[in-house]
Amino acid sequence: MPSGCSRPVFQRIVAVGAALFASGIAASGFAQPMGQARRVQNPWHLGVFPVTVFSGYTSSFGGRTGPWGAIEPHYGLDIAAPLGSPIRNWWGGTVKEVIHDGRCGVGLVIQSGPYEHIYCHLLGSGADGIYRSGGLQLQPGQRVRTGQLIARVGMSGRTTGPHLHWGMRYGGQWLDPALILRAMARSRGAAARP
Ligand SMILES: [Zn+2]
Repeated sequence: MPSGCSRPVFQRIVAVGAALFASGIAASGFAQPMGQARRVQNPWHLGVFPVTVFSGYTSSFGGRTGPWGAIEPHYGLDIAAPLGSPIRNWWGGTVKEVIHDGRCGVGLVIQSGPYEHIYCHLLGSGADGIYRSGGLQLQPGQRVRTGQLIARVGMSGRTTGPHLHWGMRYGGQWLDPALILRAMARSRGAAARP
């Protein structure tokens, strides 16, 4: 595939799903939407890992066994971290939604170009559509920088321990955040080579 592949090509890759996305071909398509957003955002490879005190991955993207034994989809990556530890914004964008429900608990949806990144089980309150935790306050429409402290790790919603559930959508379709992290690491490795 030529390196400057067209937008329709990329959209087809996304539609094929996460398995193809993990291949080298899909990885070259990955750079396209990020490149479009580069005009207004930091380069995507400067995106930051959202958890500052990493304690391990506890559940990956895809199917998993739920509390009642049935296989259920898991649209995100669970990253264990100490209660109250900082969560940083993956990539600059705008707060799209403050979640407050029984599953995600208190959560945030951040929009960065065609990407939505979702942060669940936060510490604090999501009442009245505003996220509040200590001195932090975020509401829809607010701009957030790459790496900005946006939340703290909590146990709200359906969780048995403190962790960040990190979800990622591209054009409304779920992606495996681990693929994003791998692509970021690959890009950084390439940039470091002479
Ligand atoms: Zn999760």
